Amino acid sequence: MHVELDLAGLTVLVVGRADRTRRARARYTAAGARVLEVLGEHAAARLEQPLDAAHVDVLAWVDGTPAERETTVALARSMRLPVLTDAPVEPTPRGHVTLVGGGPGDAELITLAGRRALAEADVVLHDRLGPTDRIDEWAPGAELIDVGKTPGHHAVPQREIERLLVARALEGLRVVRLKGGDPFVFGRGGEEVHACRVAGVPVTVVPGVTSAVSVPGAAGIPVTHREVSRAFTVASGHVPFSEEELAHLVGLGGTLVVLMGVGTLPHLVAGLRRHGMAAEMPIAIVERGFSAGQRTTVSDLGGILHRVAEVRPASPAVIVVGEVVRVPETFGCEDGRPETSDAVASVIARLGT
Ligand code: SAH
Repeated sequence: MHVELDLAGLTVLVVGRADRTRRARARYTAAGARVLEVLGEHAAARLEQPLDAAHVDVLAWVDGTPAERETTVALARSMRLPVLTDAPVEPTPRGHVTLVGGGPGDAELITLAGRRALAEADVVLHDRLGPTDRIDEWAPGAELIDVGKTPGHHAVPQREIERLLVARALEGLRVVRLKGGDPFVFGRGGEEVHACRVAGVPVTVVPGVTSAVSVPGAAGIPVTHREVSRAFTVASGHVPFSEEELAHLVGLGGTLVVLMGVGTLPHLVAGLRRHGMAAEMPIAIVERGFSAGQRTTVSDLGGILHRVAEVRPASPAVIVVGEVVRVPETFGCEDGRPETSDAVASVIARLGT
């Protein structure tokens, strides 16, 4: 049974060993409760005294033997106290780091595994790309550290983030590194995993919904589409592509998805044209996907730089180059859901494939 209980202003007596009740106590305090602790190895056995001494509204059972639980529940019942049963912190002598992919920013698009890791976290390191609006609610009582990155400016340098992750885990804490999208797509997740391994800290990675696929999707653009594109390449535009890379990107065909590419867009467009991509090739820039300020700018390689001068797109944005950009327009719907199979046939006919 799952019951929501508003603990604000209530006095909660927590039963269990200090290390095992740590998360429960932090959560109740964060919810505005006054927390009384009956801690120690045989907490439940020593229960009667504080119950007599204090005014208690709720008894929270977290940890102890089944016999102790029975005594506690009987006692609470005799005092007409509600009993709340909570999960103990399982022993983690060396602490633990979990890299959580938070998805593209919408609170609905984080995984259940990600939410669970946050709920159990003692410390959360987050930045602006992850879904942080409701982080207080998702990780109640956890210490929140903003390592916020803005383009071209790392508020906390990457090595310092890694040092923090390891140091907190070595204190025996459960540490979550919450990231935007997927931790392993331009997220420096690999470096953080490596830092943990080197320090002997157990580390888990929870995948996330990457913006490379979901943000075009939010604008109705499928990265692949039958008979239109059967491959997609995801590249980082944070530094300009070399001539060799541009030649390969043009040669590949399919869809090109560029992250962190707003600053180098003129270079990308000129480079793709120079290596033979047609001026008519469609291109879309999807800014701030899944937010109220989501905006899509559609043009072609020949016209995009004029459009960009007008609309001045800003990061975070995903750039999509390829025939798939025309799919939502041809289907006459903006949410990417084709209405009829005739619509599919017409786009294929129009593209001449
Ligand atoms: N690990 C992330 C990507 C990190 S790189 C992932 O898998 O999505 C950061 C870049 O991702 C941004 O510069 C932008 O290109 C893109 N991005 C992330 N979230 C976005 C969003 N909500 N809207 C548009 N672009 C986004």
